[in-house]
Amino acid sequence: MSPVGIVAEIVELFAQKGGSNYGGEAVSQLEHALQTATQARAANSSSALVCAALLHDVGHLIEDETDAARDPILLDDQHEDKGSRWVSHHFSAAISDPVRLHVAAKRYLCTVDAEYLDCLSPASLQSLREQGGKMSAEEIAEFESEPNRDAAVLVRKWDDNGKTPGRVTPAIHDFVPDLEVVVAAE
Ligand code: FE
Repeated sequence: MSPVGIVAEIVELFAQKGGSNYGGEAVSQLEHALQTATQARAANSSSALVCAALLHDVGHLIEDETDAARDPILLDDQHEDKGSRWVSHHFSAAISDPVRLHVAAKRYLCTVDAEYLDCLSPASLQSLREQGGKMSAEEIAEFESEPNRDAAVLVRKWDDNGKTPGRVTPAIHDFVPDLEVVVAAE
């Protein structure tokens, strides 16, 4: 059975836009999403977490669809907010929260875990500066109060390890069953 509705839309989105470069790394957006989701699956994660990993950077793919002229607030918007807003229209907070928090999770880990900071790629270190650098005590407390913070930290770590050129992963269609499970659960 071929995917329908939002699942088909996601498959199509990756088919149309997934070939674009992933933020200064030597992989495409599609390769990056698949590598991130494959790690989630390898960790025996729930379908919700696998889908969060797959969709964590969807904000980069839907950018063209936001009409900045009509909604000036979206002009300066960050990809995690754009992505999580889109995801939250279709899925629960178990999926949209890790999408929304995956940049904060990086700043959080950089602040509380010195080893994590040492392992970031040059492009990721560069974007850390643009994303606000390390967190204040207040920001740490705010992050730790998020119900889906642990999921966001997991997605973040898979995200960081999802930038290997040429790594073989399942295809986007192999994640359709996970997407259909979470759609059915809505
Ligand atoms: Fe990412």
